Amino acid sequence: MKKIIVLDTSAFIAGVEPQTFEECWTTNKVIEELRKSINENIKLRVEIGISSGKLKIVDADDIKIDTNDDLSDADLSVVSLAYKYKDKAIVVTNDYGIQNACKRLGIRYISAGEIGIRKILKWFYVCSGCGKKFDRKVDICDVCGSKIKRKAKAVKGVENA
Ligand SMILES: [Zn+2]
Repeated sequence: MKKIIVLDTSAFIAGVEPQTFEECWTTNKVIEELRKSINENIKLRVEIGISSGKLKIVDADDIKIDTNDDLSDADLSVVSLAYKYKDKAIVVTNDYGIQNACKRLGIRYISAGEIGIRKILKWFYVCSGCGKKFDRKVDICDVCGSKIKRKAKAVKGVENA
């Protein structure tokens, strides 16, 4: 059976790239939480994941969990989603509260460190006028004098920048 990778907030924060997987899921509440992040890399990870189609947003009705761990709404949404698809879901999380809840509910989980994270985001720079691409940051295009915009792309392999 095909496995479903479910990413929680901590997975994104730990640097897990949705592109690492053929497909992975997270919930609307996690996305909302991550979009509030002040870390641009985390936001980028989310937006690239969504736009590439690898990261799917799926929601399930919240289940009731009897636990002493302090689970946020976003955390609960992840556990609920994984529980609904328990036979094939694997939660990627570094959050002990979520790991405990998974243990109790019989949901499989792994920590972010176990999946061999590779940084595959790379910034590049594009002229807003002529479209010339630059590998490193420049302010003004040497061809047409227009402003340069920073963009991100996903590249395979280890970041060499
Ligand atoms: Zn230019």
